[in-house]
Amino acid sequence: MSVDVAIVGGGVSGLAAAYHLTQSGLRVIVMERQARAGGNAFSERIDGFLMEHGPSTVAGNSDEAMALSKAMGLDTNLCHLGDGIEQRYLLKDGILHGIPLGPLGFVRSGYLSIGGRLRMMAEPLLRRRPQIDGDPETVTAFCTRRFGREFTELVMDPLVGGIYAGRPDDLSIDAVFSKFAEFEQVHGSVTQGMLAARRDGKRMPGRRLMSWRDGVGSLPTALSEFLGEIVRTGATVRQVKRVGTGFSVETQSHGSLSAKSVILAAQPHVAASLLEKIDVRGAEAAGAISAPPLAVVFLGYHRSQVDHPLDSLGFLTPTSEGSALNGVQFCSTMFPNRAPDDHVAVAAYVGGARNPDLGNQPANALIDIVRNELSGLLGIHDEPVIARVRHWPRGLPQYSLGHAERAETLEHISNRVPGMFVTGNYLGGLSISDCLESAASVAGQARTYVQDREKVQREKFAI
Ligand SMILES: Cc1cc2nc3c(=O)[nH]c(=O)nc-3n(C[C@H](O)[C@H](O)[C@H](O)COP(=O)(O)OP(=O)(O)OC[C@H]3O[C@@H](n4cnc5c(N)ncnc54)[C@H](O)[C@@H]3O)c2cc1C
Repeated sequence: MSVDVAIVGGGVSGLAAAYHLTQSGLRVIVMERQARAGGNAFSERIDGFLMEHGPSTVAGNSDEAMALSKAMGLDTNLCHLGDGIEQRYLLKDGILHGIPLGPLGFVRSGYLSIGGRLRMMAEPLLRRRPQIDGDPETVTAFCTRRFGREFTELVMDPLVGGIYAGRPDDLSIDAVFSKFAEFEQVHGSVTQGMLAARRDGKRMPGRRLMSWRDGVGSLPTALSEFLGEIVRTGATVRQVKRVGTGFSVETQSHGSLSAKSVILAAQPHVAASLLEKIDVRGAEAAGAISAPPLAVVFLGYHRSQVDHPLDSLGFLTPTSEGSALNGVQFCSTMFPNRAPDDHVAVAAYVGGARNPDLGNQPANALIDIVRNELSGLLGIHDEPVIARVRHWPRGLPQYSLGHAERAETLEHISNRVPGMFVTGNYLGGLSISDCLESAASVAGQARTYVQDREKVQREKFAI
């Protein structure tokens, strides 16, 4: 079998790339190791509850996500994140503190000490740090310099734990909060930059989140159905070889196929192994990106079993609290149709770089750990109606110091191996919307490569 583009991996990245390429009339195949396409993005309905095994929200200001939602006929199922929610919770001294949403939330709340608030508010008065090439800063270094230690430990640390399952001491500010670094350089201060963005009508990322009635998995499911038989599930790619100017893609049980171009859309450790014999630099770059184990513990209760009003999207925990939970989502408050009538659902995120061993604990142990912590924090009585665990042995890729160089090495792989492209959540951002944008861009590059190659062939024969 011969195709224009072979895509390794059928998560949202691989499926979105395939969609764009087929729209251009190219012959494409997607090889997906699992029995189901969608990768991390998997929503499962169980006894009226909706468990999000992976992502639970998508950025509502993502043009790619909105365009695909429309193209897949999912628009009527769109739902927006909990309107009417007025606060977020953070854990401090074993108690959940409600912080009003909005720019003055931390100023108005007593979550930070008066000294911590004053230090945070002094940020616009501080001098801009000159940009020094080759001297990247971690999230901790940047935020401590700009906002002070207390803000970093009690606000940024839980945020990084919740969004990236990471540690602010490891992650690069340029890679994970690039807007902060940009605001400092362009506006002299992060606060000034945020105010300017607001004045220009731009909202900060993360404010407009959405999903679909049956969860985030609706999008990859619809894409996979739309693409039909070009998505081969249960097809593990073992090796990719260079053959002439093209590639031979060899699978475990589906034989091999030849392709003019290959897009690697699987996890970084898979890219590292497949690139080993083709591009050592790329293999090393992908192999250096870690993705510690992460687990999702989903619990459903009758409303009467939970004392807490669950009047927020959930809560996050600073490392200093020593909690096993990176964060907890109040799923049935976030979106409609997440639990049957008179029931509620919560999901706890455990493990990641903060506590990798915990992410590997057996399901029963994790359920006990989470229930134990939540019973006190949320006033939960008795057994849950439903309890499920999803382990992600390789959870979220960590954008640690040096990430920008690693991503660049992989993004420019086609300069070293013409026709080879890489996409996925470890390059231009790990959110679904980042993945969709990266996939669209890589699909465009692969299309141009295939079309240019054909043009050259035609001209050769014309001569
Ligand atoms: C618990 C969790 C919560 C998250 N929450 C959010 C959120 O709320 N919002 C958000 O925007 N993002 C969230 N994310 C991030 C987002 O889900 C992911 O970044 C995104 O889904 C990754 O898509 P992908 O296609 O790049 O990779 P993946 O989903 O990892 O897909 C890669 C695919 O490649 C396949 N594969 C691997 N090896 C091979 C092989 N040899 N041959 C063939 N196929 C192979 C895998 O089976 C997999 O299906 C979350 C992620 C997790 C894990």
